Amino acid sequence: MDLWIQPCAPCADLYGQPATVEPHDDLTLNGAGAEKDATVEQHYTCVRCGAVFARILAGPTTRQIGCS
Ligand SMILES: [Zn+2]
Repeated sequence: MDLWIQPCAPCADLYGQPATVEPHDDLTLNGAGAEKDATVEQHYTCVRCGAVFARILAGPTTRQIGCS
């Protein structure tokens, strides 16, 4: 990716952490209300740096947060 956004410090800290780690306060949940999907996968956008994180909540616990 040549359009990489420099993440803010909280995002940099969160990157690569397991999905059990709570998103930081500047991450807003995308598609709130999609209850069914939210039990499987949650997508967050950071209001500070625009980074997008996905939390995979179903499947192997080794699946983790990552920028997409
Ligand atoms: Zn951020």
